[in-house]
Amino acid sequence: MILTQCAVCATDLGLTLGKKCGRCSTRYCGPECQVQHWKEGGHDKLCKKIKKAGGAEQYNANKKYTEAVAVAAEKCAEDTKGQTCFICTQALHWKTKEGLVRGCACRGTAGFAHVSCLAEQAKILVAEAEENNLGAKVFNQRWARWTSCSLCEQAYHGVVSCALGWACWKTYVGRPEADELRSFAMNVLGGGLYETGNDAGALAVMEADLSMKRRLGASERCLLAMQGNLASTYERVGRKEEALSLERSVYSGHLKLNGEEHEDTVIAANNYASSLNRLRRFEEAKALFRKTIPVARRVLGESHELTLRMRWMCAVARCKITGATLDDIREAATTLEETERTARRVLGGAHPLTKIIERNLSIVQDHIHRRGLSKK
Ligand SMILES: [Zn+2]
Ligand SMILES: [Zn+2]
Ligand SMILES: [Zn+2]
Ligand SMILES: [Zn+2]
Repeated sequence: MILTQCAVCATDLGLTLGKKCGRCSTRYCGPECQVQHWKEGGHDKLCKKIKKAGGAEQYNANKKYTEAVAVAAEKCAEDTKGQTCFICTQALHWKTKEGLVRGCACRGTAGFAHVSCLAEQAKILVAEAEENNLGAKVFNQRWARWTSCSLCEQAYHGVVSCALGWACWKTYVGRPEADELRSFAMNVLGGGLYETGNDAGALAVMEADLSMKRRLGASERCLLAMQGNLASTYERVGRKEEALSLERSVYSGHLKLNGEEHEDTVIAANNYASSLNRLRRFEEAKALFRKTIPVARRVLGESHELTLRMRWMCAVARCKITGATLDDIREAATTLEETERTARRVLGGAHPLTKIIERNLSIVQDHIHRRGLSKK
């Protein structure tokens, strides 16, 4: 979590309230907590060290990064046994001694790496694009190294995404608040926390980022993207109605700003429809999916993860509508079979999406089987 709370009593300070330690910028709700932290909280001993590391936010980022790397390497230990890093070619990192990770769609012996090596690579590529003014397209491609694998081009998931989130935040946190990369990094961190189920952390990062962007006067496009992320996090922590109303307004915002055929609009439509699904408003979800899946197939392509995701959820909605007929369910099963095949080919059998489609497919097939029997 980024530092939006008093270091002693955890009072929420947002981005601007409270007091800071004059040397290291550790944040407090007021002088009482600050004094207590110095006298009894060990801050007298730690203050110098924190200042030397670059201040409280940097110190925290470094610490969380090290923890996240250890967690990721441990979680991946079985999968990475006997392998080597595709960047430095070693099993153990020469400097940090960290183990290997893999959290993308790479298979076989491909894609094993150290988080440090992935981070170093992303950092260098981005710095090069920045220094040489290589343009937005190149920059975006290189920035994507923080969130997706250069080999299989799929997004990192779970613990790897989280460790890279901290790596990214630790790399850019020292920049001024208005610096674009610092805010992008916040976004990567929020996404990584979200990936490992640290919803409270993800929410705090996202809310902080959004309020900072509003203050700095960010573009409509940017605010919409952030509200979209915030909505999916509301969803996760069970604030479903809030999520739905935010999704609806993000979707209509994108429609107005970009039109129907834009990737961002498709993503927003999918999020809105998924929210409807989760609130068991299947008729509405199905209607929206019916309208937007053809667009997704056209704009993103048949094997894009999002197209697969939308087709999968539309199939689920069709089965769950009250009064769904056996034909409806059979059609849904056909869709699930198709998407499962494509997902397996594109994302791999270990990918969470492939697994969940597979699970849904077997439930639906069971159901068809039972209904078929009871008819006889
Ligand atoms: Zn306090
Ligand atoms: Zn201090
Ligand atoms: Zn390495
Ligand atoms: Zn990969």
